[in-house]
Amino acid sequence: MTPETPNETAQRIADALTAAAFECDGKCGLSEQECYDAHPIMFSAMSNGTTHVNASVTAIAELVLSVLPDPAAARAAGLREAAAFVDNDDDCGCGGCDSCIPRKFAADLRRMADHVQSGAQS
Ligand SMILES: [Zn+2]
Ligand SMILES: [Zn+2]
Repeated sequence: MTPETPNETAQRIADALTAAAFECDGKCGLSEQECYDAHPIMFSAMSNGTTHVNASVTAIAELVLSVLPDPAAARAAGLREAAAFVDNDDDCGCGGCDSCIPRKFAADLRRMADHVQSGAQS
Protein backbone atom coordinates (compact mmCIF):
# COMPACT_ATOMS: atom_id res chain seq x y z
CA MET A 1 0.00 0.00 0.00
CA THR A 2 1.65 3.22 -1.11
CA PRO A 3 0.56 6.24 0.89
CA GLU A 4 -1.21 8.72 -1.29
CA THR A 5 0.13 12.20 -1.81
CA PRO A 6 -1.61 15.15 -0.14
CA ASN A 7 -2.86 16.15 -3.59
CA GLU A 8 -4.52 12.78 -4.13
CA THR A 9 -6.15 13.02 -0.73
CA ALA A 10 -7.37 16.53 -1.47
CA GLN A 11 -8.78 15.34 -4.79
CA ARG A 12 -10.57 12.45 -3.11
CA ILE A 13 -12.11 14.82 -0.56
CA ALA A 14 -13.12 17.20 -3.35
CA ASP A 15 -14.68 14.34 -5.35
CA ALA A 16 -16.63 13.14 -2.32
CA LEU A 17 -17.88 16.64 -1.57
CA THR A 18 -18.89 17.12 -5.18
CA ALA A 19 -20.73 13.79 -5.16
CA ALA A 20 -22.43 14.65 -1.88
CA ALA A 21 -23.49 18.12 -2.98
CA PHE A 22 -27.23 17.85 -3.24
CA GLU A 23 -29.25 20.14 -5.42
CA CYS A 24 -32.86 20.02 -4.41
CA ASP A 25 -35.30 20.44 -7.26
CA GLY A 26 -37.91 21.68 -4.82
CA LYS A 27 -40.03 18.58 -5.40
CA CYS A 28 -38.64 16.48 -2.59
CA GLY A 29 -41.82 17.04 -0.61
CA LEU A 30 -39.92 18.06 2.48
CA SER A 31 -39.93 21.34 4.30
CA GLU A 32 -36.84 23.46 3.88
CA GLN A 33 -35.51 22.34 7.27
CA GLU A 34 -36.31 18.65 6.65
CA CYS A 35 -34.66 18.83 3.26
CA TYR A 36 -31.60 20.43 4.80
CA ASP A 37 -31.44 17.72 7.47
CA ALA A 38 -31.72 14.99 4.83
CA HIS A 39 -28.99 16.51 2.68
CA PRO A 40 -26.57 18.34 4.96
CA ILE A 41 -24.30 19.19 2.06
CA MET A 42 -26.15 21.39 -0.39
CA PHE A 43 -25.02 22.45 -3.81
CA SER A 44 -24.73 26.22 -3.84
CA ALA A 45 -23.03 27.21 -7.10
CA MET A 46 -20.77 26.17 -9.91
CA SER A 47 -17.75 28.38 -10.43
CA ASN A 48 -14.81 27.76 -12.76
CA GLY A 49 -15.86 24.14 -13.08
CA THR A 50 -15.80 23.64 -9.35
CA THR A 51 -18.80 22.81 -7.24
CA HIS A 52 -19.41 25.10 -4.31
CA VAL A 53 -21.39 23.78 -1.42
CA ASN A 54 -23.39 25.16 1.40
CA ALA A 55 -22.95 22.95 4.41
CA SER A 56 -22.39 22.96 8.13
CA VAL A 57 -18.83 22.44 9.28
CA THR A 58 -19.92 19.27 11.10
CA ALA A 59 -21.39 17.81 7.90
CA ILE A 60 -18.17 18.57 6.05
CA ALA A 61 -16.03 17.16 8.88
CA GLU A 62 -18.03 13.91 8.84
CA LEU A 63 -17.71 13.57 5.11
CA VAL A 64 -13.97 14.24 5.16
CA LEU A 65 -13.52 11.67 7.91
CA SER A 66 -15.42 9.09 5.89
CA VAL A 67 -13.08 9.67 2.95
CA LEU A 68 -9.78 9.68 4.80
CA PRO A 69 -7.95 6.39 5.13
CA ASP A 70 -8.65 4.68 8.42
CA PRO A 71 -5.71 5.67 10.67
CA ALA A 72 -5.74 2.25 12.37
CA ALA A 73 -5.58 0.48 9.01
CA ALA A 74 -2.73 2.77 7.96
CA ARG A 75 -0.84 1.99 11.19
CA ALA A 76 -1.43 -1.74 10.73
CA ALA A 77 -0.16 -1.49 7.16
CA GLY A 78 2.97 0.27 8.43
CA LEU A 79 3.56 -2.45 11.02
CA ARG A 80 3.12 -5.16 8.38
CA GLU A 81 5.59 -3.36 6.13
CA ALA A 82 8.09 -3.30 8.97
CA ALA A 83 7.42 -7.00 9.60
CA ALA A 84 8.05 -7.83 5.95
CA PHE A 85 11.27 -5.83 6.13
CA VAL A 86 12.76 -7.65 9.11
CA ASP A 87 11.33 -11.07 8.25
CA ASN A 88 13.29 -13.77 6.45
CA ASP A 89 12.46 -17.23 5.15
CA ASP A 90 15.36 -18.98 6.85
CA ASP A 91 14.02 -22.22 8.30
CA CYS A 92 16.44 -22.32 11.22
CA GLY A 93 14.64 -23.14 14.44
CA CYS A 94 17.29 -22.45 17.07
CA GLY A 95 15.41 -19.39 18.28
CA GLY A 96 18.47 -17.25 18.98
CA CYS A 97 20.41 -16.52 15.80
CA ASP A 98 20.41 -13.63 13.35
CA SER A 99 17.66 -15.36 11.37
CA CYS A 100 15.46 -16.48 14.22
CA ILE A 101 15.45 -13.26 16.22
CA PRO A 102 14.28 -10.99 13.35
CA ARG A 103 11.68 -13.63 12.47
CA LYS A 104 10.38 -13.35 16.02
CA PHE A 105 10.29 -9.53 15.69
CA ALA A 106 8.32 -9.92 12.47
CA ALA A 107 5.79 -12.20 14.17
CA ASP A 108 5.43 -9.68 17.01
CA LEU A 109 4.92 -6.83 14.56
CA ARG A 110 2.23 -8.81 12.69
CA ARG A 111 0.49 -9.55 15.98
CA MET A 112 0.58 -5.82 16.79
CA ALA A 113 -0.84 -5.05 13.35
CA ASP A 114 -3.73 -7.48 13.90
CA HIS A 115 -4.33 -5.98 17.32
CA VAL A 116 -4.33 -2.38 16.05
CA GLN A 117 -6.75 -3.29 13.28
CA SER A 118 -9.16 -5.39 15.35
CA GLY A 119 -9.25 -2.63 17.96
CA ALA A 120 -10.39 -0.19 15.30
CA GLN A 121 -13.26 -2.37 14.15
CA SER A 122 -14.91 -2.74 17.53
ZN1 LIG B 1 -35.49 19.25 -0.95
ZN1 LIG C 1 18.32 -19.78 14.36
